Parts: sequence; structure tokens; C-alpha cells
Amino acid sequence: MEKAKLKFAFYWAASCGGCEIAVLDINEKILDVVANADILFWPVAIDIKYKDVEAMPDKHIDVCFFNGAIRNSENEHMAKLIRQKTKTLVAFGSCAHEGCVIGLGNLHDRKEVFQRIYHETPSTKNPERIEPVNLVEVKEGKLTNPEFYDTVKTLDQTVDVDYFLPGCPPPVVLITKALETILEGQLPPKGSVLAPINSVCEECPRKKEEKKISRIYRVYEKEPEPDICLLEQGIICMGPATRAGCGAMCLQVDYPCTGCGGPCPNEREQGAAMLSALASILGFDEEKKEDFEVEELMDQIKDPIGTFYKYSLANSIINRKVIKT
Ligand code: SF4
Repeated sequence: MEKAKLKFAFYWAASCGGCEIAVLDINEKILDVVANADILFWPVAIDIKYKDVEAMPDKHIDVCFFNGAIRNSENEHMAKLIRQKTKTLVAFGSCAHEGCVIGLGNLHDRKEVFQRIYHETPSTKNPERIEPVNLVEVKEGKLTNPEFYDTVKTLDQTVDVDYFLPGCPPPVVLITKALETILEGQLPPKGSVLAPINSVCEECPRKKEEKKISRIYRVYEKEPEPDICLLEQGIICMGPATRAGCGAMCLQVDYPCTGCGGPCPNEREQGAAMLSALASILGFDEEKKEDFEVEELMDQIKDPIGTFYKYSLANSIINRKVIKT
């Protein structure tokens, strides 16, 4: 008897859309997917409405790959609806996994974000100071907008998630492996991150010599030596604190790891893990220095949150700036 096809869904919440492109980057492997699974819901590619999903019986979808963070009430509604309709929910990509750059919005609240977007950006001309509202009445009827939240959440801060596929976007090799694992019915225990357990440093071909650094460079300030660890050349590279699976692709084109793979196993805080790795090599080879000299050294790190928590702020222990009421 022919094996029944699985039922797949892909959904896109608050994200840039890169994860949707990454699905297509699997190239001819997509043929294996369609040979073994029907895609029931994929708003970017299939004309299907939310009401069609609402009409599905509970747990009708076998696997949903959900990319994007939860930024507004529509994202939250769809996360809850898809959870109800899906047996296996995969947080696909860094936004769903950890909030990603969308999560850096947690350095502000809704009011500040709207002020910047609708009134201050150089390309905005808005003399009437119009901002989005949740409900507008026009002659044809009522129009509604989702509610924009103060705080960005990850998918698993919103609903129960079965698996996590990291990356911004997830590397093709990890997507392909995850699809094969699902199609073969070989998924690991619930809650697993579908990526290797080592760090990007372990995949990186650059040589490490356990050197101390006393000067930090931003990427544009220095042309790095080939083959030598970027961190040991003073360029902050998140490799020691980031889960592998990407093949250290960025390092192969002289660009430091920025941490999109999320924390290594057993590390709750990716940013803190990186700070600790940096502290172990930041310093002077000679005699002990005064506190102010250490502070000067630390001051060389520009944009510490955007560097150490670029992808993981929404998922960190202090996941946002305090909102003053
Ligand atoms: Fe490679 Fe960066 Fe790790 Fe150095 S810190 S070994 S450059 S991944």
C-alpha cells in the first residue's frame, strides 16, 4: 500500500522573509518534499486564507515550519491557531527561535518605535502626524489592523514548540537534514534544536593561538589576515558562543560570526557566554593594569547589545528595556 503523504505548512510572522527564500534554496530537494508531503498552507506561495486554516480539524497539519517573531496580535493569533491545527511545530529560523533582530525592538516600546518610524526617519514626511490605528471606519465598512505590541516575543514564549531550527536564515544543509529526518520519521526528543552540538569555532578553518588582544576593531577598520582567528586579530567574532551547523560560511569570506545560530547547548545566555569568552582573551600580556585602563579597553566595544544580543535579546533573561509607566 502506498505510504500516505504528510501534510506540511509554512508560515511567516514578524520576519524579513529570508526564511521563506531559504526553503526554496534547497533546490531540487523540494521535489522530495512534494513527493512525500502535501503543502496545505504557505501564504507566500499558495492562495489560501486564514479561514481555511480555521476550518481544518485540530492537529490536521503534520508539521508546520513557523518563521518570524511575535510582534503583533496577528502573529500571536496565527501562532495559537497553527499550534491548535498542527501535530509538530518547528520554530524555523532565528526570529521564531530567539527573536533575532526584530527582538532588538525590545530596547524601545511601541510609542518610541512609532515615533521613530512615522515621524523621525529621514525619508518620512508626515505633517499630519498620522500613525496606524487598530480600527478605521470607511464607507465600505470597518478595517482593522493588528495591535502592535510593546514587546517582541519568541514563538516558544507564545505557544508550545516541538523543535527549533536555528539560523538567519537556517542553512540549507540544516533544512535538508531536518526535512530528511521528518520524512524518515526519525525526529529526536521534543524540544531539540535541529543542529550540531558544537560551536562555530569548531567548524571554523581559522587557526587559534590563544593570544591576548588589547585592541578591538570594527569590521571596517581592519583587513584581516587570512587563516588566523578573527577574534585573536581583535575583531569580535561570536563563534565561541554560537551553535554550529552553518559550516562557518561567514568566516570563509572574512566576515566574523554574528551569532545567528543561537547559544551552544547548556548555555542559557548567548551574550553572557560571549562576554565570558571575550573576557578570557581581552587584556594585556605584560603587567597588571589599572581599572581605568581596563575600562578603556571595554569602551572599545561599540554597541554591546547589538553585538552580543543581536539575535537573542528577546530570548534572554533580561529580555527588554524596562518600560517606564
Ligand atoms: Fe573562527 Fe571566529 Fe572561532 Fe576565531 S572566534 S575560530 S574566527 S569562529
